[in-house]
Amino acid sequence: MIATINPATGETIQTFTPLTTAEIENKLDLADSTFQNYRKSSFESRANKLLKAAMILEDDAHEWAQLMTLEMGKPFQSAVAEVKKCAWVCRFYAENGADFLQDKVVETDASYSYVSYQPLGSILAVMPWNFPFWQVFRFAAPTLMAGNVALLKHASNVPQCSLAIATIFKAAGFPKGAFQSLLIESGQVEQVIRDSRVKAVTLTGSELAGQKVASVAGEELKKSVLELGGSDPFIVLEDADIEEAVEVAVTARMLNNGQSCIAAKRFIVVEAIAPTFEKMLLERFQALKIGDPMAEDTDIGPLATPSILEELDQQVQKSVECGAKVLIGGKPIQGKGNFYPPTILTNIPADSPAMTEEFFGPVALLFSVKDVKSAIALANSTSFGLGASVWTKDEKHIELCIRDIEAGAVFINGLVKSDVRLPFGGVKRSGYGRELSVEGIREFVNIKTIWQK
Ligand code: NAP
Repeated sequence: MIATINPATGETIQTFTPLTTAEIENKLDLADSTFQNYRKSSFESRANKLLKAAMILEDDAHEWAQLMTLEMGKPFQSAVAEVKKCAWVCRFYAENGADFLQDKVVETDASYSYVSYQPLGSILAVMPWNFPFWQVFRFAAPTLMAGNVALLKHASNVPQCSLAIATIFKAAGFPKGAFQSLLIESGQVEQVIRDSRVKAVTLTGSELAGQKVASVAGEELKKSVLELGGSDPFIVLEDADIEEAVEVAVTARMLNNGQSCIAAKRFIVVEAIAPTFEKMLLERFQALKIGDPMAEDTDIGPLATPSILEELDQQVQKSVECGAKVLIGGKPIQGKGNFYPPTILTNIPADSPAMTEEFFGPVALLFSVKDVKSAIALANSTSFGLGASVWTKDEKHIELCIRDIEAGAVFINGLVKSDVRLPFGGVKRSGYGRELSVEGIREFVNIKTIWQK
């Protein structure tokens, strides 16, 4: 069902009828005809529109933020910050896109040879609800700057965010078919990917959805980019600034009510400092305030849907049955809304979900290890490889972590975050391809070789 359901109360606010096949056809047609002109537009005109989109985002930041909080429950202040980050990515590509895509001259046996980066056409984005604006803008800004047109299949629980984003791009002056929201169900995605007017697809979401989308794209021999789940390690070594590490650990785990792909999920601490770290983390978790995501002093709002809550609950219960110990939390909060308390699990056995699966909610998994080598081995022991955060001042240990941790990003003495200037993406079952930076804008272009005598 495509609907706005307030996760803090369970109230259904509005439902939407999925597009019919004929309506999808009209949208694909409009996208394709728009592309035929839009691809010839100058970088300057695209950049001006992106700058306008950034202004619209900032001017009405509270309006967009309220929509996000209403539909998926993130604390309002984080939603406002998310809107600002979207404005940043629009400005970043407006200012740098032309440089990233300018012709690259290469000397060969030709009189003149170079590489040209040309748009591909309609690009489908299948997006998740957890950062309902950011995930879309980090795809859309480079895509539109490159001269492609965008089709958005957003998650079914954030339809109003999806429609609002299309309104923003239209108000920014992009032609009507340059960015369209497709209110469709996941079962309708396949027909869109198979359509010959759609040239490529990007998906941010779960492994299962990634497999499905990538296999259809593979059959059609279309390019795909996948940004999937993660179970990021947060490694704390003996010489770390524990005070700072604990403070960042709380933010890194609780951001977005714990529902972030790059949230720190497994806290891997060396034995010598593990008891201190555990005690400090517990104290901070006890102090967190759960409640109405619109309230200013709320740290943690509800989980986005009842099924996310149920899945997290199952994972915790199974881990406990396997022998894990609950330090705090561990059971859903009774009453209205999808509330789950800050939770810490320790003594995690090898065969439990806490060892291998992604926990998408406010649950910290705490491990204690002998030294840096065993920390890295444990960090690499899941099927994921998105980000990793390492806390130490020791140069040798830093080098070892950078070289040996299997992840798309390693942050030393800092929180794993996405930054428009740096590429973002994963290895292993966290996906492939990169978003943001120069790498991101070159994912969906025809890298064309020109050779002239
Ligand atoms: P999800 O269930 O995979 O949904 C993501 C999107 O895929 C939604 O639009 C969903 O549509 C669609 N979808 C689901 N099944 C599909 C199918 N069989 N065919 C086509 N489309 C399908 O993921 P989620 O629960 O919303 O998001 C949580 C996951 O996303 C976590 O694993 C998280 O780590 C990951 N994530 C990764 C990143 C990253 O950058 N690497 C960022 C954020 C989140 P419906 O809503 O209609 O089902």
